[in-house]
Amino acid sequence: MPEGDTIRRLADRLHRHVSGRTIARSVFRHNRYATRDLAGLRIDVVDAAGKHLLMRLSAEGRRPITIHSHLRMSGRWSIGLPPRTPPWRRRIELWLPDAKPLVGIDLPVLDVGPTADEHRWVGHLGPDLCATSFDGDLAVANLRAAGSVPLGGALLDQRNLAGIGNLYAVELPFMAGVSPWFPSGRVDGLEHLVAVARALLPVNAELGPQTTTGNARRGRTHWIYGRRGRPCPRCSTALQVARESDVPWGRVTTWCPRCQPGPDAVDHAHVDPERLRRLVAGHRLVARALGRSGQHGPRHSRSG
Ligand SMILES: [Zn+2]
Repeated sequence: MPEGDTIRRLADRLHRHVSGRTIARSVFRHNRYATRDLAGLRIDVVDAAGKHLLMRLSAEGRRPITIHSHLRMSGRWSIGLPPRTPPWRRRIELWLPDAKPLVGIDLPVLDVGPTADEHRWVGHLGPDLCATSFDGDLAVANLRAAGSVPLGGALLDQRNLAGIGNLYAVELPFMAGVSPWFPSGRVDGLEHLVAVARALLPVNAELGPQTTTGNARRGRTHWIYGRRGRPCPRCSTALQVARESDVPWGRVTTWCPRCQPGPDAVDHAHVDPERLRRLVAGHRLVARALGRSGQHGPRHSRSG
């Protein structure tokens, strides 16, 4: 599933392509919207809220409308008709004069409704890691309030903070030296972990590629995510992997039992700021963003 930085990047790319253009013809292959016609509406903004994509449309004398989508595991947006994708998988097509159409493919979540009601789709989200303003104190308080929920699950709960998918839910606890199994409410120093997330996601969203190590080389972009059966890059202990079905938060989870001692081994978990600082140092733009801003990253959001 794409992370918040990937969706932010997608929103920016779509915005550059379509903003200010008026829809000439729309096609929905969706039972709820099959007869809906968006022709005549101008695409004002393509924005992201956490992992949700919001396309805001308006026209003189009509109330503003938002197209909301969430890609989950399968969905994607394409600029231009994708070859080899049969029409029935193209849930929505927005045809624009003098431009390639925007096509939403296999979208598991697709809604159309008044812009004034966007909160129905995104009102539950916690502070958004890729938004212009970010309330880090609130994100930390939410993670603490998650109490007995293991840190990995608390990070993935978009109500606590928005934008983290499984990649960062594995990488951030490793970088912090905390077990993803440790109850979130009993982890000290979460403000350091949140500050790194707040630097990491916006930098990756703006510049890409999506890397936690700062290394863009294939196979080197992440510390432990997807490295099952490999030694820990810090201490060489064999990494542990739990399958989705064995994890309460339902995602494949990787951790180093030595760098990230579990709740059975220690009473209390502490985010290790020194370890975080060392591991972030290789990602120079992130290290710089951290040094510069603390709570405020470099992103610009079009959210109103
Ligand atoms: Zn280790």
